[in-house]
Amino acid sequence: FRSQGHERDNSMGINLANDAQLRALADQINAAVTGDWTAAPLVPGASASGTKIAVTNPADRRQTVGHWQAADSATVEQALQNAVAAQPAWDATPAASRAAILEHAAALLEARMPAYIALCTKEAGKTIPDGVAEVREAVDFLRYYAGQARKHFAPEALPSPTGESNTLQLAGRGVFVCISPWNFPLAIFMGQVAAALAAGNSVIAKPAEQTNLVGYAAVKLLHEAGIPEAVLQFLPGDGATVGAALTRDPRVAGVAFTGSTDTARAINRAMAARDAAIGVLIAETGGQNALIADSSSLPEQLVKDAVSSAFTSAGQRCSAARVLFVQDDIADKVVHMLAGAMAELKVGDPGLLSTDVGPVIDTDALALLEDHAARMAKEAKQIAVATTDDSVAHGSFFAPRAWELTSLSQLTRENFGPALHVIRWKANQLDQVVDTINATGFGLTLGIHSRIDETIDRIVQRAKVGNIYVNRNQIGAVVGVQPFGGQNLSGTGPKAGGPHYLPRFATEKTVTVNT
Ligand code: GLU
Repeated sequence: FRSQGHERDNSMGINLANDAQLRALADQINAAVTGDWTAAPLVPGASASGTKIAVTNPADRRQTVGHWQAADSATVEQALQNAVAAQPAWDATPAASRAAILEHAAALLEARMPAYIALCTKEAGKTIPDGVAEVREAVDFLRYYAGQARKHFAPEALPSPTGESNTLQLAGRGVFVCISPWNFPLAIFMGQVAAALAAGNSVIAKPAEQTNLVGYAAVKLLHEAGIPEAVLQFLPGDGATVGAALTRDPRVAGVAFTGSTDTARAINRAMAARDAAIGVLIAETGGQNALIADSSSLPEQLVKDAVSSAFTSAGQRCSAARVLFVQDDIADKVVHMLAGAMAELKVGDPGLLSTDVGPVIDTDALALLEDHAARMAKEAKQIAVATTDDSVAHGSFFAPRAWELTSLSQLTRENFGPALHVIRWKANQLDQVVDTINATGFGLTLGIHSRIDETIDRIVQRAKVGNIYVNRNQIGAVVGVQPFGGQNLSGTGPKAGGPHYLPRFATEKTVTVNT
């Protein structure tokens, strides 16, 4: 993808097109692999308990890369008590001091990039370019929310028409629970936590069960940078016990969640059922993302961007393209070129620089994709399947695949992996195509390939989605540049990495003084 993807400098001084620099980075990453990484609850006052669970490499399940320990219910209770007790002092800490700690964490993370990429590669199957982007995004989130805290938390003087002085001030809401996904185990984890902390909340971070090691290392770094241990606690465990116990607890003021729409609904229900103040839920969920190409688009660029959008990160991005709607005039050519491009994809060990597509996260994810492939074999025409060799025999690998469908209704769920579907449309069906996409109820990303301004404007106007990308790939939103998040079944907003995100973690106080 390095030569295929949308080019931008996401590199922290590493030029991904420079082989010598990349090889040096790969050596540093390999040297950082210890094989005995650990993760356990970070909760002051809790006694260590629970059995150690092995973490295996998704690219080769015979390799154990570390161990983690789940929090029990006594540890969850201790974490909640600590978080409640620690929040007022943290909230009273000037926003500029909170921001300075996050900026210090950004500098530490930048300096230790190879070690964090190593973790992302071995625990989450990230390729090296994905690992670089992951660390880059985490650093960006830390700096961005630090900057936002300095800006928003300065008291704002309001008009005083009656001679009284009026100010608007922001304050933390209380205890925030951050529940993060395995597909961006460092970037999204750090983004949620940094925003909640910057706004003056105490935080209990619960990572996805598949990526506890990365989450633990992120929390350790934030503690080292100066976040007090009771202000940021780490609670690994399964969603059904740890996640559910946290989200139904009346002491929790808000939850930031990224993951499936079903889980977001369950969290919303749990929070609504509490006999407590109305909680805040910030959810980023799934998508059924489309790419619409009309006959004016350039086939070479379209195929390059479709491949990058569908198969980067083994398709395990909420933003990934799942359906390419291509106008029939150019469809044969595009399908032919797509098959050719997919034949070039290298599937394999994500630690190798030659790899384009690494493993999917676990055997459950693989089983779902294989299920989908079996159904497609009966109901759709296969366009291409990427080749694999024996090196993938012991990992959870799914070779990238593309099928041609006749209707979007053939897709009944989000297929979270390297699976692309192509549907042809005719010149007079443009509005219908957009309406069909809207009717899925999801609204996350949309790609448009066209050279006709009226067509682009018409789609932009009609589509109910959060992020639209024209004549480029539709992944890799940059913090502060492309605020990210969807609507309807894809999430509640506000957008991560955007100017409205941080204020949602805060409460507002208007102070009126009779002078
Ligand atoms: N922000 C990521 C992107 O633009 C996707 C985040 C996600 O998968 O949740 O590709």
